[in-house]
Amino acid sequence: MSVLKPSSAALQSAAATIRSGGVVIMPTETVYGLACNATDAEAVQHVFEIKGRPADNPLIVHIADVSQLKQVAESWPPLAEKLAERFWPGPLTLVLPRHPSVPKETTGGLDTVAVRIPSHPIALELIRLADCPVAAPSANLFMGLSPTNLNMIDPAIEIDVEVMLDGGPCEIGLESTVVDLTDETPRILRPGGVSRAQIQAVVGRPLGSLPPSFVRKSPGMMHRHYAPDARVVLVDEAPDGEAALVFGETSNSLHIRMPNEPSAYGARLYAALQAADSRADSVIFVEQPPDSADWEAVNDRLQKASAEPEF
Ligand code: AMP
Ligand code: MG
Repeated sequence: MSVLKPSSAALQSAAATIRSGGVVIMPTETVYGLACNATDAEAVQHVFEIKGRPADNPLIVHIADVSQLKQVAESWPPLAEKLAERFWPGPLTLVLPRHPSVPKETTGGLDTVAVRIPSHPIALELIRLADCPVAAPSANLFMGLSPTNLNMIDPAIEIDVEVMLDGGPCEIGLESTVVDLTDETPRILRPGGVSRAQIQAVVGRPLGSLPPSFVRKSPGMMHRHYAPDARVVLVDEAPDGEAALVFGETSNSLHIRMPNEPSAYGARLYAALQAADSRADSVIFVEQPPDSADWEAVNDRLQKASAEPEF
């Protein structure tokens, strides 16, 4: 395994690895991804193995250009084009009917496919050079924290990966917003880098709510996810002498001061949880952000990080 600065030679080499069925770590604007050819069932299975991810948890397929959409989706409604035009490249994933060239291994057995165009220039260039749709779940072990910089990546993951491309810290730092367009009413399956209000403005009618049967449809919707080793406990005010993510001034060496603005907070969250994890005995206290719409994605991840394990 080699860590490469994203020179054109490094990108060529990573693209060749993807084309030949290998797995590379690529930066995106959301989080670092474990990237492989989305149309290669064996490569996809390898990604599931590396992550320890259950086979029924679908992967997001990344493309570099809207013209590639016809390779991965059987059809798309006019609303998909409107959303794509407004938010791609960027942290919005659309769930559409699956094209047969995408194997069911990639979509967790579903007849739908999740697709997006990332905005990170290295990801875009890599997908272009690989010349195939690229499946890329977060480069972490199942249920762990998604890496937002190369240092956060678990050595257990690195062992099985051929190339890591260094793209610096991820700008968004939280996973993409996932919107299901396969039903009459569009629904947000997972809040993320694009806010509900931004999507609502393009859709122009109320977004659907989630029926309980959806809860297992997406891994990001499981209760416990995105969690560090220590238990995360949400509080109004963090106690002294304990590892914590706090708002406001602090001189406590166990406290990490977080930004007051939601997108800056989101960009810092996973790295801060990992840093707190290394300082914590067994609990990380997190001062609860406001319960307002602009904090939806951050609050979603904090809820999932603080949920009791289900199994
Ligand atoms: P990750 O790759 O770890 O960011 O997770 C992929 C996310 O995409 C999951 O959390 C799901 O919410 C979503 N997803 C991927 N494919 C589908 C699909 N076919 N239907 C519904 N959700 C999907
Ligand atoms: Mg993930």
